[in-house]
Amino acid sequence: MRLLKESQPEFVSGEVLCKELGVSRTAVWKHIQALRAEGYDILSQQNAGYRLVGVPDRLYPQEILSGLKTEFIGRHIFYYPQAPSTNILARDLALSGAPDGALVVAEEQTGGRGRLGRGWFSPCGKGVWCSLILYPSVNPAAAPPLTMLTAVAVARAVQQAAGLVPGIKWPNDLLLGGKKICGILTEMSAEIERINYLIIGTGINVNLNGEDFPEEIRDSAASLKMFTGRDVSRIKLLQAYLQEMEQLYRIWLEEGFSPVLELWKEICVTLRRPVRVSSLKESVEGWAEDVDEEGNLILRLENGALRKFVAGEVSLRPF
Ligand code: ATP
Repeated sequence: MRLLKESQPEFVSGEVLCKELGVSRTAVWKHIQALRAEGYDILSQQNAGYRLVGVPDRLYPQEILSGLKTEFIGRHIFYYPQAPSTNILARDLALSGAPDGALVVAEEQTGGRGRLGRGWFSPCGKGVWCSLILYPSVNPAAAPPLTMLTAVAVARAVQQAAGLVPGIKWPNDLLLGGKKICGILTEMSAEIERINYLIIGTGINVNLNGEDFPEEIRDSAASLKMFTGRDVSRIKLLQAYLQEMEQLYRIWLEEGFSPVLELWKEICVTLRRPVRVSSLKESVEGWAEDVDEEGNLILRLENGALRKFVAGEVSLRPF
């Protein structure tokens, strides 16, 4: 694939492929057939060789790795055409020793999950549905802000790959035109002072059309394509996300959450506004005053008192 890509739009001869790869002509032919079966459009011409004409819109590991500028995030990829939930597969992979920064990616999730037991709609080939496996050596209590860090990484990636500027709804939903384009679900296994593994699941709605969404979320959800008017490269978006993630994760490991929180605040669109915070038990209205160093929302109530809300336990609704 590298050789085919490097020689594009020219042909690469069968002889060169045999020599570079150290295999027979028959073996080359077999590999070309396998790539065609994956959806690659490869022309073959006698005396000229092979020419790459089209790359399928698939999140194949070789496509993600081609041009990816990271050291450890996304260097090891587990790819699934269909998965129940990338977070669930990532958990199993973490338990069997997957490396730090490993990426689990699926074209489709049949049981995509959101926070608080909610579902995440993840149709085939239309989004970036993925999970990262991380083993940070920090205290488990320091981990929750990682979902906010991830929101910053996705926002920056969306800007790079689609030229759109999303806003963050506390703590970690990404919005465009007031509609949700991305959800993040962080899960971890920990002992009192040690994280066993941490899974960051991200669902980005990329190339869905309005009518692709189920009716119940049609008013609240959107995709990048609905704002750009054309397909956005899922590969470019995923690469940008992995690169941003590595940079921010390093900052967080070395300097803590403060510098990341500053970036988060610049993108947040739900601060210094009236909001409603709802949990299963209650619904509280107030002024979204600030977010503290742990990522908790500080709400000023009508009587002037301040109340703290922990991310992960409540939902926020502007009103
Ligand atoms: P909320 O925005 O209701 O506060 P949340 O942050 O508590 O959501 P998430 O895990 O971010 O929870 O998202 C789950 C919710 O998002 C679902 O209940 C559903 O309403 C909505 N949803 C499901 N799939 C999608 C999707 N592909 N795009 C946008 N929204 C979705």
